[in-house]
Amino acid sequence: MEALSRMSDMFPDAAGELHSDSPFQLLIAVILSAQATDVSVNKATPALFAAYPTVEALAEAPIEDIIEKIKTIGLYRNKAKNIKACAQMLLDNFSGQVPETREELIQLPGVGRKTANVVLGDAFGVPAIAVDTHVERVTKRLRICKLNASVTEVEATLMRKVPKELWVKTHHTLILFGRYHCTARAPKCTICPLLDLCQDGKDRLKAAQK
Ligand code: SF4
Repeated sequence: MEALSRMSDMFPDAAGELHSDSPFQLLIAVILSAQATDVSVNKATPALFAAYPTVEALAEAPIEDIIEKIKTIGLYRNKAKNIKACAQMLLDNFSGQVPETREELIQLPGVGRKTANVVLGDAFGVPAIAVDTHVERVTKRLRICKLNASVTEVEATLMRKVPKELWVKTHHTLILFGRYHCTARAPKCTICPLLDLCQDGKDRLKAAQK
């Protein structure tokens, strides 16, 4: 797809921006990143993982201390409960290992389809497309997906239009394009290499000239 190809040229090294050293750390970081920035998560996780480096340690961690370590991240109280419960469920149901299927991952506290897809793709190399706010906005602005498509429909459309071996890369490319270029409030339409493909951008520029 031409639009994705041009985005890929802009962000050739697109990859996840959350810091982690293991599938377990990635899972926890992705849970913490819901409705929060990756930067805020990356600031908090070194102290969290240093204090609780294993699934066992996090499962046994005092909730107040987890809260203290992640309190700079949005929704921290709920997330503290979720990551502790998640570690406990990994021990109880999955022998302390992060499961490698979506069906199992979404059983974990704080893990929805989007989080599961990020973990599948980034921790295990399983083809998946996680649709976050950036992916949804960019694909709709470019009419890759219908404007009224649900998150599930956006994911299904991308899976249909993008070759499977590019799903994980495409997810990261769309996120970086949305995070740094086609931003929610001030998309950089005037310097956008995709402007000729983008009715939304053309309409914005026309409206700005009035
Ligand atoms: Fe986004 Fe504007 Fe580029 Fe369209 S032209 S993709 S709205 S930055």
